[in-house]
Amino acid sequence: MDQVVRGSEAGKGDDGNAVTQPMPTPAPYTSVDEVMLPARLQGRNNVYSGCSCTGPCAPETCSCLCNGRARYYECNDNCACDVATCRAGRTTQQPTALDIRLVWTSERGHGLLTGTRIPVGTYVGHYTGQLVNVATARARDSAADAVSPVHTYLLVLREHTQRGVLTTAVDAKEYGNLTRFINHSCAPNLELRPVRLGFVPRLAFFALTDIPAETELTFDYGGAPPSAKIATTLPADTDTGAPRHKRHVTAPELALSAKPCRCGAPTCRGFLPLTIW
Ligand SMILES: [Zn+2]
Ligand SMILES: [Zn+2]
Ligand SMILES: [Zn+2]
Ligand SMILES: [Zn+2]
Repeated sequence: MDQVVRGSEAGKGDDGNAVTQPMPTPAPYTSVDEVMLPARLQGRNNVYSGCSCTGPCAPETCSCLCNGRARYYECNDNCACDVATCRAGRTTQQPTALDIRLVWTSERGHGLLTGTRIPVGTYVGHYTGQLVNVATARARDSAADAVSPVHTYLLVLREHTQRGVLTTAVDAKEYGNLTRFINHSCAPNLELRPVRLGFVPRLAFFALTDIPAETELTFDYGGAPPSAKIATTLPADTDTGAPRHKRHVTAPELALSAKPCRCGAPTCRGFLPLTIW
């Protein structure tokens, strides 16, 4: 997932958008496999107490998976389980073996295409880049808007919690992986799930449906993560020993920007979602 394919690639999206060639070379960026944390957070991201499983982690018995319900928590460095055998608890920590490549679409610029069928529920990859605070994200967003009103490499996740709104912003302009090229669609085939190994969520993409080969991968930039529909219990915070608390994630109101959407879906809203700060 971390190799930038350069040169000509041909394909056709399932919405019929022709993929033309040759492909312009994207602006250079540095490939990174993980989100880059600011210095003050480095080494401090594993704040949840892990499970004490002695065998393979199972959803019925593993506290990471039990609490996650829909896999929003994964085993981390604090878990007693064996990294080599814990597959159920570390979905987004396994390497993916998908045939995903960069393509050029006539309507939406660079995009990602899968060369083979991806079954529903498959983990596809996670968004990497620089973790930035809200003020920095806002500043970079408006600076990017001034240069190119369509393309942004900022991914902003807002989760509504009992402690207030939790914003996670990742900028993939200078550092990132192939997922930075995933285009928006109003009828997406991927969903974004915030998966927690530590308190900074991993912004992971999962197949929302069975995705046929030679289909462009898309997600809804304004879509609420599926965790919006459930209330989950967070494992205790090992830093503070604080009691477990409920975290409820809800969808922000979907507002639309003035930027036209070219996803081509029959249910297209006409405009790209607006980033809400
Ligand atoms: Zn476990
Ligand atoms: Zn665990
Ligand atoms: Zn485990
Ligand atoms: Zn659309």
